[in-house]
Amino acid sequence: MSNETPAEIEALTNAFVDENWDPEITVQEWWARLAANRLISTALPVEAGGRGWSGAQATASNKVLADRRVVGPPTGLGMLLAAPTIAHHGTPDQIARWVPKILDGTESWCQLFSEPGSGSDLAGLQTKAVEDGDEWIITGQKVWTSMGAEADWGMLIARTDPELPKHQGITYFGFPMDQPGVDVRPLTEMTGRALFNEVFIEEARVHKDNIIGERGGGWRVANATLMFERAGIGGGHGGGYGSASPGKIVGHLDRPVGSFLGKRGSISVGAVGRRVLGLFSEEAEARGKADDPVFRDKLTQLHILHRIASMTVKRHAAERRSGRKNTGLGAGVEGNLAKLLNTQQIELARDLTGDVLGPDAMVMGHEAATDGLLQELVLFSPAPPIYGGTDEIQRNVIGERGLGLPKEPGPAKDTPFTELAR
Ligand SMILES: Cc1cc2nc3c(=O)[nH]c(=O)nc-3n(C[C@H](O)[C@H](O)[C@H](O)COP(=O)(O)OP(=O)(O)OC[C@H]3O[C@@H](n4cnc5c(N)ncnc54)[C@H](O)[C@@H]3O)c2cc1C
Repeated sequence: MSNETPAEIEALTNAFVDENWDPEITVQEWWARLAANRLISTALPVEAGGRGWSGAQATASNKVLADRRVVGPPTGLGMLLAAPTIAHHGTPDQIARWVPKILDGTESWCQLFSEPGSGSDLAGLQTKAVEDGDEWIITGQKVWTSMGAEADWGMLIARTDPELPKHQGITYFGFPMDQPGVDVRPLTEMTGRALFNEVFIEEARVHKDNIIGERGGGWRVANATLMFERAGIGGGHGGGYGSASPGKIVGHLDRPVGSFLGKRGSISVGAVGRRVLGLFSEEAEARGKADDPVFRDKLTQLHILHRIASMTVKRHAAERRSGRKNTGLGAGVEGNLAKLLNTQQIELARDLTGDVLGPDAMVMGHEAATDGLLQELVLFSPAPPIYGGTDEIQRNVIGERGLGLPKEPGPAKDTPFTELAR
């Protein structure tokens, strides 16, 4: 791990912004500059284009990007999930082929895990992959695929060996989305956006070189992705004052980067970050509620939860870096705890939005109070307790793996998939 102090990191990020920020250059050029300076996903290992920074070091750099009011790294699941998964489980060739294009935002990824009958019971997935020479033929249906319509690649898990027990017969692929047999249909949610999609796959093809991990080893790799997801969900906004989306389909790459700076910055609607906390204080001041003891008490609770969550994420990262379990740094379930803490924050932020904005909380869009940012957080608030594994499932994992409670009753783990009830 690199040993720069937060002050040194702030200085080097500030120097980078002084030299490189120009609102007139394209989003693609800005991200290329950030990536060339290894300031996109700084926690990734050096060989994967990062700096191997700890959570605290990465936060110091992200904070500068937000404070300097520049656009942050590419948003989306390539950055959050695919890059760290490939960096830790991919071959050197796969890392060289995929990760740089995630970091400079030229390619985007989606997560093809959930199916209509397999959400919480993800290992029960039915999508099948059949070997055909150097390729695998994929057939099945995925659902709730966030940003699937804009993605170049999918992190796809499929059943390659149905005779094996369900956790053992799954393989993880880097799946090209733009090919015959892949039909992506958007699903509109109550924010008005179509964040997620259903994806129908009919005899699509993927080369064997795109297997991430080993054949039959997909469950282990998928769990790594889910761990990054939970810790990422609990970890808050990834830095920057404005945000843009990666990949050619969404059309942000060729636009001037300065056009992605909103009046009030950007927030991740699924997490409470520094911007959200700042918005509550700004609005309370402007609306004469800053001295209301009940409001102050709730906002203090939100700050405390936010702090506990970020410390939990740091503990989780420290344990992961140590490469060992039960180091005393944590109980091995910090990612799950961080996700539950995220839900508590989102629910409190939802209530505070009503308290501080009053009737203005009902109006959405850029012309509305807070640029519509807090209002969108409220409409999106039912989602975080569900995605990345529902909160009930997190509690099961904490109970079983963290506290050593007995497992849920069910068929023996070595039962072949073909013999399980569907
Ligand atoms: C906004 C959003 C974005 C998403 N994006 C993606 C994505 O990009 N890619 C992807 O693959 N998936 C995505 N998902 C899907 C998400 O991971 C699943 O919705 C989630 O895992 C739950 O699965 P399910 O919807 O099938 O619910 P089910 O598994 O059917 O669960 C229904 C209810 O039963 C409860 N339950 C189920 N089993 C148990 C149990 N054993 N113990 C206690 N309670 C239980 C659940 O907690 C839940 O309340 C997204 C979901 C949302 C809401």
